Amino acid sequence: MNGALREAAKGSPRNVKLARVHRFLALLYGLLPIPFLVVMAQDKVHLTALAIVGAIFWSLTGIHFLVSLGANDGKAWARVSSLVIGAVMLLGFPIGTVIGGFFLISAGWSWESDDITAQVQQTRIPQDATRRPLEEEYKGPLGACPNCSATIPLTSLECAKCKAIFGPESSWKVTPL
Ligand SMILES: [Zn+2]
Repeated sequence: MNGALREAAKGSPRNVKLARVHRFLALLYGLLPIPFLVVMAQDKVHLTALAIVGAIFWSLTGIHFLVSLGANDGKAWARVSSLVIGAVMLLGFPIGTVIGGFFLISAGWSWESDDITAQVQQTRIPQDATRRPLEEEYKGPLGACPNCSATIPLTSLECAKCKAIFGPESSWKVTPL
């Protein structure tokens, strides 16, 4: 891969939806305690509780905001954080479960890393994995397609190459090798 392409890929945002949901939660946790804080502030007895509520919610705001930035850059720590946060949120049925599930899927399966070589390998592996078993697992007798003479399993109902049909209704039969 040439340098210019690598630079372009590095600059573009990744995991856009995941980052957006993290930013949404950052905003939510930022605003949610405000009504409670206003009420609690009327009564000077609850100042400690007020400080604790504010600290908890606004720490969550900070965490989600940082993770959203990391997710945008495809940083590995943001992926781990999203998986951990997602697993914890699963417990908050029903809304937390939905968002947690989204985090696990986004960070687990459809994660876009900042490491371009790792990403190329990631997209290449599934293709090899699906192609290999077909060639290696079949041990039965082989035959030739009467139409295109491709080597296919003798019991094939359809030629994998030219799509000729060999079922009971067809006059074509696979020629034994
Ligand atoms: Zn054929």
